[in-house]
Amino acid sequence: MRPLNKKILSQFHRIQDIIDNNDRFLISTHINPDGDAISSVLVFYALLQYKKKTVQICIQDVVPEKFNFLSGVEAIQKAEEMDDLFNPEALVILDSADLNRLGCVKDRIKKNHLVINIDHHASNQRFGNVNVVDDSESSAVEIVYQLTRYMKMPTTPEVATLVYTGIICDTGSFRFPNTSERSLEVCAEMVKSGAVPEYIAEKIYYRMSRQTIKGLASALATVEFHYEGRVCCMYLSYEILKEAEPVDTEGFVDYLMAVDETEVEFFMLEKSPGCFRVSLRSKNTLDVNGVARKFGGGGHVRAAGCTINGNVEEVKFRLLVELGVYLDGK
Ligand code: AMP
Ligand code: MN
Ligand code: MN
Repeated sequence: MRPLNKKILSQFHRIQDIIDNNDRFLISTHINPDGDAISSVLVFYALLQYKKKTVQICIQDVVPEKFNFLSGVEAIQKAEEMDDLFNPEALVILDSADLNRLGCVKDRIKKNHLVINIDHHASNQRFGNVNVVDDSESSAVEIVYQLTRYMKMPTTPEVATLVYTGIICDTGSFRFPNTSERSLEVCAEMVKSGAVPEYIAEKIYYRMSRQTIKGLASALATVEFHYEGRVCCMYLSYEILKEAEPVDTEGFVDYLMAVDETEVEFFMLEKSPGCFRVSLRSKNTLDVNGVARKFGGGGHVRAAGCTINGNVEEVKFRLLVELGVYLDGK
């Protein structure tokens, strides 16, 4: 295990104290959970089980089916199915820059709850009683893994699989700039501990449902270029999304990043009529977090998101105008 800096060590010490002195824990993460969110939740769940605690996991939205192979996933409850009688002493919030990212789970937080906040978003609001926020980490799960080592939990093949999955999801399989020497080292450690890269890649990348590939085709059919090709965008309409089988849109925006010479890419997903969840990506220094924040969202410099209401032309226009300011400012 690599040496931890003093600040992180003292926060880990406080988390250990909270874990040792309480019994009931609720773990949660952000809406539309991605691989890092789910993995960090499940590694923390494994840690609390190891410490023989009473734990519930509650997330507003459903876990995408492709993550069903992960150990512990059956313990994740949707907020609406949550047992109202469960009265946790402490809450563990992972991979979430602020409490609004929890969606309706936010309403379950009471003043007397102890809140542990572990995250790697620079924009994190430090809403916890203990905050471990390190934006130099590739993923939240990488921090949770360090905590499990600090608390001397053995890394089983199941835990190794979770950690490896979270890191490959948040680094785009080691393509994004958050891929560090450290994250590669942790992945090597995970392989040593029993994670099987080929198996995990097969589960995450080669399991697209028919409805999802049709959804991708319909999104790709809307691709447009703006600002002399510096910006590329596409959308998926609610008409397609509302069909019986769910479309898993995670990673759709990555297809736009494959286009040569574009600098910024965005994907508009019409989650409900007239309400678009937007994923923004930047290939260079243009700060899409700044753009997303203008619309009440956030994220990282090179990957961010927000929600905008309107018809698709209006939403696109508003984003293009805002991006124009940033493109001119270069
Ligand atoms: P996505 O496009 O959903 O993959 O999100 C890219 C990044 O932006 C992730 O780090 C998200 O956590 C973050 N993000 C997405 N949507 C929002 C939002 N509405 N508010 C704050 N951060 C967001
Ligand atoms: Mn996430
Ligand atoms: Mn993350």
